[in-house]
Amino acid sequence: MELPVYLDNNATTPLDPRVLEVMLPYFTSKFGNAASRSHAFGWIAEEAVDQAREQIARLIGCTDKEIIFTSGATEADNLGIKGVFEMYHAKGNHIITAVTEHKAVLDTCKHLEKLGARVTYLGVKEDGLIDLAELKAAITDETILVTIMYGNNETGVIQPMNEIANIAHQYGALFMTDATQAIGKIPVDVDKDGIDIMAFSAHKLYGPKGVGALYVRRKNPRVKITAQMDGGGHERGMRSGTLNVPGIVGLGKACELCRLEMDEEAKRLGALRDKMETALMTIEESYINGSTVHRLPHVSNLSFRYVEGEALMMAMKNLAVSSGSACTSASIKPSHVLKSLGLSDDLAHSSIRFGLGRFTTAEEVDYAIETIKKAVDHLRELSPLWETFKEVSTQ
Ligand SMILES: *Cc1c(COP(=O)(O)O)cnc(C)c1O
Repeated sequence: MELPVYLDNNATTPLDPRVLEVMLPYFTSKFGNAASRSHAFGWIAEEAVDQAREQIARLIGCTDKEIIFTSGATEADNLGIKGVFEMYHAKGNHIITAVTEHKAVLDTCKHLEKLGARVTYLGVKEDGLIDLAELKAAITDETILVTIMYGNNETGVIQPMNEIANIAHQYGALFMTDATQAIGKIPVDVDKDGIDIMAFSAHKLYGPKGVGALYVRRKNPRVKITAQMDGGGHERGMRSGTLNVPGIVGLGKACELCRLEMDEEAKRLGALRDKMETALMTIEESYINGSTVHRLPHVSNLSFRYVEGEALMMAMKNLAVSSGSACTSASIKPSHVLKSLGLSDDLAHSSIRFGLGRFTTAEEVDYAIETIKKAVDHLRELSPLWETFKEVSTQ
């Protein structure tokens, strides 16, 4: 076993060597621009991009024409939300999202508020799920977009896609989801799930960084979005710029591997995650954050009371995990996601996110369990708060 052990697969996943292998020729001999129509270099690149579109389409149940390539999920979230607002604002200016969304969605919505959008940020219940009654109460004929993530990046909590889509569609609103954490991990099907627009990223499913896509429905209804980048009219006019051919080839291959291996892999990771969680729950004053029923199989977010998450990570240098969201860990504010579940600042600060992945082994999970138990024990021995708690609880 090599150290440190990587259990931060929600932040990014390692590139699968099988993905790298198919990408390599597109950096060297097959370097053509996919938009070059006049020679074989261009045709070869275009053919590779078309194949990737089909591989992606097969994984999510759409057609190849409905895939718009972007630089990642952040760009796809921006393009989807801003693109809908710009295209449909004559119909209404209301957007509904949730407080547990990724910053790529929340900050985009905040930006649109400055441009005249009215945004409702739905709260979540203790288990991290939105309240459908609250959604029904918020939605009006002015609502043009409901955007709710598929699986949460911090807790793994899965929102009820179909139920949300039905409510959105009853009011003539489009339904968008940031499915970056769900695609390739659990079955995602745009028709079954009622999704009109969907953002995702290659580097969360064992593909390369810097490439992602936006799914945009072409039938029932035909969705139109305004481009947020102009210049050349690539991607059916929705996203200009020379395509990142090696990256796109990698995203396609990564999707194909997920489609073939996902079912087995979800079972394996679910069993490893449950084993780890059961072992760690034997630690006194430990808590699971978010639903354990509606949850991605490879994610576990735990709080160990009377232990600072940051201190715990420092005490476990051979374990790569994160406390709160990787995107906000530079700030000392407790995670907005955990706070919205109703956690106190204390408990939010004492949380650790575990993200298992394709290359996680049983041996690594055993190592993690032992390491965490020791580190929590050690830090609590040094903690006056823990001492007080023990005195009170044994009286
Ligand atoms: C990682 C992530 C993003 C950002 O994706 P990039 O491709 O890194 O821009 C957006 N949303 C969610 C839910 C994520 O997990």
